[in-house]
Amino acid sequence: MAEGSALLTSAALPEPPLARAADTAVFVDLDGTLAALQITPQDVGPDARRRALLQRLRAALSGRLAVISGRALDDIDRVLEKDVPAVAAIHGLVRRTAWGEIVAPPGEGRIPQAREAFESLARADPGLLVEDKGAAVALHYRRSPQAEGACRELAARLARSLGLKLQEGDHVVELRAPGPDKGEAIAAFMREAPFAGTQPLFLGDDFTDESGFAAVRGMGGLAIIVGSRRPTRAQYALSDVEAVHDFLSAIAEQPKA
Ligand SMILES: [Mg+2]
Repeated sequence: MAEGSALLTSAALPEPPLARAADTAVFVDLDGTLAALQITPQDVGPDARRRALLQRLRAALSGRLAVISGRALDDIDRVLEKDVPAVAAIHGLVRRTAWGEIVAPPGEGRIPQAREAFESLARADPGLLVEDKGAAVALHYRRSPQAEGACRELAARLARSLGLKLQEGDHVVELRAPGPDKGEAIAAFMREAPFAGTQPLFLGDDFTDESGFAAVRGMGGLAIIVGSRRPTRAQYALSDVEAVHDFLSAIAEQPKA
């Protein structure tokens, strides 16, 4: 990631310019970007206003809308009520194309070992939450912030001993099989209909979104970080989920060219 690292900035970032729907593809993270963060992932559910926005946006973009999330595929479908066909799940590892084909790596035998180790730590601390995503397992410590050191140390040790990929996030550590990240998932969408030939735009908030920022900038697109986390490879910023909704609404509502 030498090239991507050169893009890192801690500077104040401007708000993004309005993108023309006619030649734009929108890639958007879910938690912390489209939906406000909650205490546990299960606390995030369907939302009528968000659903209506995504429907209008998808129509305005002629289908060039994909959700790029760390959640498992069926969990994204639960939150979005199966309304968005093009989805990358588990930070890019599993991808569903705009026409519903699922692209996923073969089964990963080392995840159950990692899950058992996470569960034994969680048995000693009821504030910890283990989330099994099948091809990945996450350990959430939002309700037990004092356990951060122990959680990160255990995850790093398991990543080394089991040969799994460590993904650190906002009050979560996660182990997943080696495979595509969010940036590679976005690049794969951009090689396919209906995305190919347009300018990509990616909005995200967490560390896992940095690969997506680097990917869209490499394709001449716009990388937009949500919130105050720095440094980042994004070149634009929006303050919060509400600002994301306003920005996407403006793309959806511009008059047809
Ligand atoms: Mg996020």
